[in-house]
Amino acid sequence: MSALLAVEGLRVEIAARKRVFTAIDDVSFEIAAGEILGVVGESGAGKSVTGTAVLGLLEKPAYQAGGRILFKDRRIDTLDEDGLRALRGREIAAVFQDPLTSLDPLMTIGGQLVETMQTHLPLSRDEALTRAAQLLAEVGIPAPRERLQSYPHELSGGMRQRVVLALAFCCEPALIIADEPTTALDVSIQAQILDLLRTMCRERGTAVMLVTHDMGVIAEASDRVAVMYAGRIVEIGPTASLIANAAHPYTRGLMASIPDMHRREAELTQIPGSMPRPDAPVSGCAFHPRCTLAEPRCAVERPADVAVGSSRVACWLAGPVSRSAA
Ligand code: SF4
Ligand code: MG
Repeated sequence: MSALLAVEGLRVEIAARKRVFTAIDDVSFEIAAGEILGVVGESGAGKSVTGTAVLGLLEKPAYQAGGRILFKDRRIDTLDEDGLRALRGREIAAVFQDPLTSLDPLMTIGGQLVETMQTHLPLSRDEALTRAAQLLAEVGIPAPRERLQSYPHELSGGMRQRVVLALAFCCEPALIIADEPTTALDVSIQAQILDLLRTMCRERGTAVMLVTHDMGVIAEASDRVAVMYAGRIVEIGPTASLIANAAHPYTRGLMASIPDMHRREAELTQIPGSMPRPDAPVSGCAFHPRCTLAEPRCAVERPADVAVGSSRVACWLAGPVSRSAA
């Protein structure tokens, strides 16, 4: 079966101050129908840029400089604005960190749901209103009929993000790009929203690209995970095997940052140093200045991807037979 979404060799550059920087370098991954792919990494790793590219929303000075993006076997990175608008909201929906990015402050919640549905689906206003109320009930909004008349500012942050989920699901998309969907919310509400997203996806068979800096969110919600570092995927594989047996030193570092009931705050491991920025790239393996296992060649040669079990890893030390042992 072919993938629902296939990103192949994606390259995104940023042209600024008469120089060209590489933000995303040779990123390839697939998402199957109904699958939740977590994309994790530190801020600036290129997670959001990758999601933005899939949505066709890259803006100057960033642009796609290479690679292909296929959705249902059709190239979508070459679509014009009309083609993209027909796709977005209908087949690929987005959920961002701040609910107010997705909601129009001057429109009622019912008005936004009805408008989105009527843009993409052959529904009468009454049909769309009925469906809107059903969706609000499904996302856990009390008195949904009355809430259709409310404006976004009349709701709490958690309730607003529930409305954003209703909006994302209202046209039954095949794929949702969710970029830090719970990061702006109170900790007590984060788990509820994540749970709701996961349940709605499972029931409908909706696939998700779940962008997050939080390994805990990945562990909780994703089937597979792609770990990004400095614009590249350094490890990708099934979540369970990554958690049990991370192959890349950076992934292991992220794992150690998951809070553990049995450890105290002070003992949490942080990876020392910081990730190189696009305007100051690092030679060889971009992680080498922070890697405790780095060898001389790591500073010079960029590691190629190797298969490790059902994962793909970019590290000289990874692989069935470590090349350093040869
Ligand atoms: Fe560390 Fe070298 Fe592997 Fe990079 S390639 S993660 S520097 S061991
Ligand atoms: Mg981001």
